[in-house]
Amino acid sequence: MDDLYYLRLALDCARNSPPKPTNFRVGAVLLSPSSSPSILTTGYTLESPGNTHAEQTCFIKLAGTHNLPGPMIEDHLGPHLPEDVVLYTTMEPCNKRSAGNSTCVERILKLRRADGSAAIRKVVCGVSEPEKFVGENLGRKRLEEAGIEVVHVPGLEEEILEVATAGHEKEG
Ligand SMILES: [Zn+2]
Repeated sequence: MDDLYYLRLALDCARNSPPKPTNFRVGAVLLSPSSSPSILTTGYTLESPGNTHAEQTCFIKLAGTHNLPGPMIEDHLGPHLPEDVVLYTTMEPCNKRSAGNSTCVERILKLRRADGSAAIRKVVCGVSEPEKFVGENLGRKRLEEAGIEVVHVPGLEEEILEVATAGHEKEG
C-alpha cells in the first residue's frame, strides 16, 4: 500500500477547498486497502454545507450513501464501514474547535464497530495541525489510546502547508 500516493490524492482534494483567512484547506481520503484497494469517499474543508472539515465531509458523504440520519452520523456509521479503513488526511485531525463543533478526533473516536472497537484502524497524515488557531494538538495521543495507529508520512509538508494556508494573510 502506497501511503504517499493516497496522501497525494488527499492533497489534490484540498486544492478544491475555497481559500479563507480563518481555516486550513485540508483534504481527506477514506480507503479500504485490503486485496483490491478501494476509495470509499473523499472530502475537503468546507465541501459540505456549514463550517465542515475534510474528515467530517468524508463521514457525511459516506453516511449519505447508507441513508443514515444526521446530525451525529458518527454514532451510526461505524458498523457500515469495512474492517480495514484507513483515513488519509493532509493535516492531523483537529482536537479542538470553537463554537461547540465536534472535533474530527471526537468524530473518529465515535466511529465504532458493532463490537465497540475503533472503525478506523489507521490515520495517515502529512503534517501536524499548525498551532496558529487552536494551540497544541493532543489528538494523536487520544487516537492512539483508542487503538488507532497514527502515522506521519513525510515528503509533502511544504506543498500541504502551501495549499492549507492559501487564503491566509501573508506575514511581513
Ligand atoms: Zn477537523
